[in-house]
Amino acid sequence: MNVNIKPHKELTFNCDKCGKIRVKKWNPIKKTYSKINEISYWTDGKGYKNYENLCRDCLKKWHEEDNENFVKLISQQKRIIFYNYNNRGSLSEKGKEEVKFSKYK
Ligand SMILES: [Zn+2]
Repeated sequence: MNVNIKPHKELTFNCDKCGKIRVKKWNPIKKTYSKINEISYWTDGKGYKNYENLCRDCLKKWHEEDNENFVKLISQQKRIIFYNYNNRGSLSEKGKEEVKFSKYK
């Protein structure tokens, strides 16, 4: 067993829409990586096109530019979570750090 692996090591992924490399955030409270980028999380496994992971910018664009599919695929409960993220500025790659620090104060 390799004891040097830190559980909170940053996990990167490529956004399936814009192709940019992004980091999945480690959630120290839930002890898991943030699911914010996972399409299966938002759609409860229904999927959206062939996307697996979208960056925050592309998630926001999905909501803004393809709202018909967004509403169809995402349950009301998850949409409320999504709108909360959006209102806090979490759905932007720029606003991410700020949100991260204010959350754990
Ligand atoms: Zn993207």
